[in-house]
Amino acid sequence: ASPDSGTEVSEALETLRRVFGYDTFRDGQQEIIEHVVDGGDALVLMPTGGGKSLCYQIPAQVRKGTGIVISPLIALMQDQVDALRALGVQAGFLNSAQDFDERRVVEAQYAAGELDLLYLAPERLRLSSTVELLDRGTIALFAIDEAHCVSQWGHDFRPDYLTLSGLHERWPDVPRIALTATATEATRAEIASRLNLEGAKQYVASFDRPNIQYRIEPKTDAKRQLLRLLQNEHAGDAGIVYCLSRNSVEKHAGFLTQNGIEALPYHAGLDAGTRAANQSRFLREDGLVIVATIAFGMGIDKPDVRFVAHLDLPKSVEGYYQETGRAGRDGLPSTAWLAYGLQDVVNLRKMIDSGEGDAAHRRRQAVHLDSMLALCETVGCRRVQLLDYFGQSGEPCGNCDTCLSPPETWDATVAAQKVLSVIVRLDRERRQKFGAGHIIDILLGKKSAKVIQFDHDSLKPFGVGTELREAEWRAVVRQLLAQGLVTVESDHGTLLQTDASGDVLRGRRTVMMRREPDRPTAKAAKTAK
Ligand code: ADP
Ligand code: ZN
Repeated sequence: ASPDSGTEVSEALETLRRVFGYDTFRDGQQEIIEHVVDGGDALVLMPTGGGKSLCYQIPAQVRKGTGIVISPLIALMQDQVDALRALGVQAGFLNSAQDFDERRVVEAQYAAGELDLLYLAPERLRLSSTVELLDRGTIALFAIDEAHCVSQWGHDFRPDYLTLSGLHERWPDVPRIALTATATEATRAEIASRLNLEGAKQYVASFDRPNIQYRIEPKTDAKRQLLRLLQNEHAGDAGIVYCLSRNSVEKHAGFLTQNGIEALPYHAGLDAGTRAANQSRFLREDGLVIVATIAFGMGIDKPDVRFVAHLDLPKSVEGYYQETGRAGRDGLPSTAWLAYGLQDVVNLRKMIDSGEGDAAHRRRQAVHLDSMLALCETVGCRRVQLLDYFGQSGEPCGNCDTCLSPPETWDATVAAQKVLSVIVRLDRERRQKFGAGHIIDILLGKKSAKVIQFDHDSLKPFGVGTELREAEWRAVVRQLLAQGLVTVESDHGTLLQTDASGDVLRGRRTVMMRREPDRPTAKAAKTAK
């Protein structure tokens, strides 16, 4: 790297204009690019569509050598490389989908120093042949795309990403830039530690997507609700409809088609040819609807997706944010619409309980689901809640359903105080772990085995909460979580006070909660703890 960062910035800007045809950098890009050009490590959090790619594509061109891009999106490598080549950037990729001859050509180009960018599937770095190959050329930087894939806490874990922690030992002088569109504080810390990027500069862009209108409604008749949305508000628009199962994808694609809306299915059960054809039609043609499982969408860059509809509850806020983030990348008004019901919660709980992984993994998934439910149930602005989840603050937006038509609320201060008073008392028995179920048993005065075992029927709040049913208490607890008045210790599901709890306990703060007729929580939440 040249020592004079002044000229580097202008070289970066010059590259932006000459190669990519854009006049100015977007928020954050210039700073990040400058830092990486200078040889620094970076951890970049930017929402989908924020412009992460340029953050490594430009330094790769400005710095000597080839930028190595590690990406899990094998299916998109060809497209990404084609797009770069069309701009005159020398790019290639190596993955298991290629045949031997194709690989040889790319390897020779790299070794000859002819490539600006080389895309690699993460598993290739486990091969000693790849490591030897990399040593035959000059590495300008490592870009680790979709960096959240290293997080076991997140929803997209890829074991191969763990090997990326070794890049720094092997090539200590090569700058590394890790990028993701989805990371809470916890995930961010995990990415930094697992990728050996504790010393990296962190760039966190705003996660707000003001042009997306967030709406979440109870599921009554999902098909009809969807049809109404598409016909009344999005006739002729391109959009994505997410379903949890393949079966449901097929069913809803058929239903929309029967009703005169051209809809293509996409899920892992379709053969690769059909999947690729449907994806490319969706990308290239106007006004198509794709009905898909979450297998669809990572890395998809279609600017004019006008709506993303979820017919089933996403498993986490991160997933929800990522999926809805595919709407409105062009900045024009778009809709993120979700219908959820009791059965969703039951299904997801079951999936969690019968799924793979150890108890800790299941508890983490349960916590993810609770955060998602909290978003569904908030009385406040959805956008504020969403940003808060990512550790960012915002003002009520005026462009989400709860801002546009505020839900009916009730004064739940006393109920909140009762829950908190139990938590406070249990907190004194720090060595023990008590979840929501146990707290509710105490409030209801139930002499469960655990209540008896710990002598909790002698606690002062024992039996003080008989005015609400168990389901209602669960709703109260969940909304306390949603409002940050209670927090949950992720490894054990233990409910804890927060800094804000004290004000409620001391009567300095009222707590309002959303009133809903029959809340989809009762049985559903039971299996969580
Ligand atoms: P991400 O990877 O963060 O989802 P991309 O890198 O794909 O986002 O960028 C999203 C879109 O924004 C792309 O079409 C890209 O060409 C465009 N873009 C990125 N940076 C700029 C810029 N400085 N000016 C104009 N358009 C940009
Ligand atoms: Zn709002």
